[in-house]
Amino acid sequence: MEMKVGCDQLIDILNHIGGKEVQGIDENWILNYAPSTGKVISRIPKSSYQDVENAVKAAKNASEGWAKLSKDERADWLDKIADCLESRFDEIASLESLDTGKPIRISRAVDATRSVTNFRFYAQQIRELKIEHFRMENATNHVIKRPVGVGALITPWNLPLYLLSWKVAPAIGMGNTVICKPSELTPMTANLLMQVIKDAGLPDGVVNLIHGTGIEAGSPLVSHPDVRFVSFTGGTETGSVVGRDAAASFKKISLELGGKNATIVLDDCDIDRHIDSIVRASFLNQGQVCLCGSRILIQEAIYEIFKTKFVDSVNRLKIGDPSDENTDLGSLISPQHLEKVTSYVNLAIEEGGTILTGGISPEIGAEFEGGNWITPTVVDGLSPDSRCSTEEIFGPLVTLHPFKNDEDAIRISNGTRYGLAGSIWTNDSSRGENIAKQMDTGMVWINTWLHRDLRVPFGGVKDSGLGREGGKWSLGFYSEATNICIMDE
Ligand code: NAD
Repeated sequence: MEMKVGCDQLIDILNHIGGKEVQGIDENWILNYAPSTGKVISRIPKSSYQDVENAVKAAKNASEGWAKLSKDERADWLDKIADCLESRFDEIASLESLDTGKPIRISRAVDATRSVTNFRFYAQQIRELKIEHFRMENATNHVIKRPVGVGALITPWNLPLYLLSWKVAPAIGMGNTVICKPSELTPMTANLLMQVIKDAGLPDGVVNLIHGTGIEAGSPLVSHPDVRFVSFTGGTETGSVVGRDAAASFKKISLELGGKNATIVLDDCDIDRHIDSIVRASFLNQGQVCLCGSRILIQEAIYEIFKTKFVDSVNRLKIGDPSDENTDLGSLISPQHLEKVTSYVNLAIEEGGTILTGGISPEIGAEFEGGNWITPTVVDGLSPDSRCSTEEIFGPLVTLHPFKNDEDAIRISNGTRYGLAGSIWTNDSSRGENIAKQMDTGMVWINTWLHRDLRVPFGGVKDSGLGREGGKWSLGFYSEATNICIMDE
């Protein structure tokens, strides 16, 4: 069934358990709002531990049959899902834009594209997976990768299907069965994925999905004794609770958490060449990407000229109707998030900063009056140790900071509890690489940002998470490595 995007009729989105669409047992609902207008667009079940129980049972029932398939058979299933998703490409883009408030251009280029690619990429990775052999003088070891069992996949609202498919594909590809718990703020494309999985004919119960809040649905899922692994992407505070709950029963756990990434602009940077990329790294998806560079560290000699060019470039960004092809920035996800970002604009002033641009509600027409809007904000004059410069805001607010030399840049960059990513902009890539090696982050880009090869490790250090996803790292997480040592005859 195709969902009508932007229609006046309220859409009921249901749980998907054992191949069936079911209402929550308590029959309670959560309303889902379009962030750009504030209008209700759908409602989802407010699931509780009983729904979790049923979903885990369904995943357990499907486990044995699914694990028996060969890896090539499972890879074929991933390709089939990719094909079905691709046939609904435009619908994914429209739903994601409606549900998150992001511009349609971005949801097409980033969300819809990557969701299809994730399934194709892991199909190929799984086909190419080899058993490792280690020969001893008188014996041979075979290292095989077996499924872990039933797993929980918990995702945030900023890149809903992009991140969910990044977990579902390798998890089921390695022979596990799963229960997905998408963010209660963005349920639409997770529902579409379940329709696609049903249409593709995947055996019932391999992928299940429950909607609801983190406390009522997410938490019992993480604690369930039959759930053997948890892959979580979300905030650092939530990740700490999820990690604690999962550790009690020794589940495998992957945590992809928050960030406060530094963008380092060295004095030899070709500003005109890179300014648009640096603006994109600051404000893509309204700054609601965990990898966004929200602290820009600029070497003293070019501080003023960079500042002028950066603010000019930010002022040219077009904020407004997410369905307009020319829109650069849409709305924030929720009124609560808008309030949080606005509170940081006020804090920036209290902490002695100057707002160079933004921080206000844009004038974009009556249709969007109920939405969560704020113009892209640039703050100058704050100490790199200030709260605004060290806490994750996760919105369209960046702070600018001068630095003296490379050591100074490294010290400021490492001066937060987070360690997800960073970028360096320079004409001297060996100087850039030398700095990158000293940054306490899981990922650094030089003269680029969010340039992704899906084979490389993705993840953070310090309070940005635990473990790595991507390529063989995901295949390792979603499997149990078992060694079989055979003595020569
Ligand atoms: P969040 O932590 O509030 O929620 C994430 C998910 O966890 C949601 O599905 C939520 O319902 C669920 N949840 C909440 N409490 C739970 C609990 N006790 N047990 C189990 N599940 C629970 O995060 P959010 O606001 O949706 O997303 C924004 C955050 O995600 C930001 O901090 C951002 O940096 C981070 N993020 C990180 C990455 C990454 O790859 N490192 C990617 C995207 C977003």
